[in-house]
Amino acid sequence: MSVSESAAPAVVALGEVKAAIAAACREARRDPATVTLVAVSKTFATDMIAPVIAAGQSVFGENRVQEARAKWAPLRALHPGLELHMIGPLQSNKARDAVELFDVIHSLDRMSLAAELAKAVAKSGGRRCPRLLVEVNTGAEPQKAGVLATDVDAFLAAVRDRHGLVVEGLMCIPPVDEAPAPHFALTAKIAARNGLKTLSMGMSDDFAEAIRFGATHVRVGTAIFGARPAKAPGN
Ligand SMILES: *Cc1c(COP(=O)(O)O)cnc(C)c1O
Repeated sequence: MSVSESAAPAVVALGEVKAAIAAACREARRDPATVTLVAVSKTFATDMIAPVIAAGQSVFGENRVQEARAKWAPLRALHPGLELHMIGPLQSNKARDAVELFDVIHSLDRMSLAAELAKAVAKSGGRRCPRLLVEVNTGAEPQKAGVLATDVDAFLAAVRDRHGLVVEGLMCIPPVDEAPAPHFALTAKIAARNGLKTLSMGMSDDFAEAIRFGATHVRVGTAIFGARPAKAPGN
């Protein structure tokens, strides 16, 4: 595999992020093996991603179904062990594609999507069954996806009882203009009372703090790949 000159910084940055995760784990007296780094590669082309794979990173996050399919079909053909996570809002009409593509979906946020995911899993004959996380809108932001904190318990029960789906954990994206800690704490508390073990929280600016609050998956893009184009929607 050829490592292009422009991509080398991402490999260096990956090492720095992994070291920072290890340091945060030491501080929190947690085993680093309990924290999965999801390298968020949205908007970056395969020639930026390939060196990061070559450097040993195997878990990646994308936020658009079409972009993910185009980029990851060729990469996965070369690297069968990769794990792909859907971290962005998912339209119901893309549920079938998402079930085919992704190993983990972090953005289950409404019953209609649960219904479509259950249908898609059934249609695959159980061949595909992505692990599912429910996105919590901890800041009750009207423009943001996610189930309101007050509704999560009932939502989890309904997803299980009506659609037979197993939800493994929760995901949150704290409001950009607030301290993230209370949002991480709230998400961890809701997960604990529902017996959920997976906590997807923490991004480039706050993953160390998220680890202190029990994050099992940190979603880090900018700190590895660099800044994304500023105005592309959904980035
Ligand atoms: C883009 C994105 C990230 C990565 O954000 P960075 O600040 O670049 O690390 C994490 N989570 C979600 C849901 C995202 O959409």
